[in-house]
Amino acid sequence: MTKLLPTSTAGSLPKPSWLAEPEKLWSPWKLEGEALIAGKQDALRVSLQEQANADIDIVSDGEQTRQHFVTTFIEHLNGVDFENRKTVKIRDRYDASVPTVVGPVSRQKSVFVEDARFLRQQTDKPIKWALPGPMTMIDTLYDDHYKSREQLAWEFAKILNEEAKELEAAGVDIIQFDEPAFNVFFDDVNAWGIATLERAIEGLKCETAVHICYGYGIKANTDWKKTLGSEWRQYEEAFPKLQQSKIDIISLECHNSHVPMDLLELIRGKKVMVGAIDVADNRIETPEEVADTLRKALQFVDADKLYPCTNCGMAPLSREVARGKLNALSAGAAIIRKELSA
Ligand SMILES: [Zn+2]
Repeated sequence: MTKLLPTSTAGSLPKPSWLAEPEKLWSPWKLEGEALIAGKQDALRVSLQEQANADIDIVSDGEQTRQHFVTTFIEHLNGVDFENRKTVKIRDRYDASVPTVVGPVSRQKSVFVEDARFLRQQTDKPIKWALPGPMTMIDTLYDDHYKSREQLAWEFAKILNEEAKELEAAGVDIIQFDEPAFNVFFDDVNAWGIATLERAIEGLKCETAVHICYGYGIKANTDWKKTLGSEWRQYEEAFPKLQQSKIDIISLECHNSHVPMDLLELIRGKKVMVGAIDVADNRIETPEEVADTLRKALQFVDADKLYPCTNCGMAPLSREVARGKLNALSAGAAIIRKELSA
C-alpha cells in the first residue's frame, strides 16, 4: 500500500435481513438453491459498497457467503461428520455442539475461491480474505479420529495452504488466518500453533496476516473478558514467536480493551492491524476516540506499518451501527494521516 494508514476490517460485516436473520451468529439462510447463490452475491456487492462508501482502503467480502467463520470452511471437508455432534467447550469458554472428525480430513474442492474471484471482479482495491487458522479449527470440533490436537492442526494447515494458494491465484492481496485460540492455549501456540500457521502460508507470495482477538461481542465472550482482570497480557505469550515468524501482518484488538499498548513493542518490525473499533459495544466511536487509539499504537508501531482496523468482525451488529463504525474508523485514520503529514 502506498497510502499511509490504510484502513480495513477484521472480516465479517452484518448481512442484509433478506439473506439471514440479522444480529445473530450462525444465523440460518432465508433463501435456498439458486436464489441463495444469487442472494449471497448481491449481499457481497452491498457489503463492498458499504466499505467503499466509508472509504475503507483494503476491502473484504464481509463474509457474506458464510454462516460462520470456522464451520463454513469445515463443512466443505471430507472426514468431518456434521450429523454426529458432540458438546465441547470452545476456547475454554462456552459449550457448543460441534461436528465430529471421523476419518482423515481432506478438501474435496476449493471452498471460497469462486467467491474470491467474484469479489476480485467487483473492485480494484486491495482485497483481504479471511480463513480460520489451524488451531481455531481444531478447537471448534470433536476429534474422534486423530485423537491428537497437534496432528489434526497439521492436517488442517496442509488443507489451508492448498486453499490459500488458490485464493492467491484468484487475486487476493492479503490472506488472513483467524486465530482467536492463540489468546487461550499459550503452551500449544508456542509448541506447534505458530509452526502450523507457517505451514498454512508456505510458498505464498501474497501478504499474510493473523488475526488474534478476544472474540465477537457475544455474551460468552464479554462474560469471559470480565474475568481477565484490569490488564490483559495474553498477547505477551505469542508475540515473541510471532515476531520471528514469516507472517507479515498481525491483527489485534486494541480499542476499549485492557491490552497494554506497550506489548506491541514485542512485535516491532511487523505490520500491525490495530483494532480501533470496539465490536462488543453498539455505541459508535467518535473519530477522535479512534485517533486516540491509533496515536497510542504509533508509539510502538512505525507509521508505515500501522493499519487501522476493527477489533474483530462486525457480523453480530446492526447494519446501521456497523456503518457508523466504518465511517468513524476512516475519519479517525484521516485525523492521524493529517497529523503525520504536518
Ligand atoms: Zn476476531
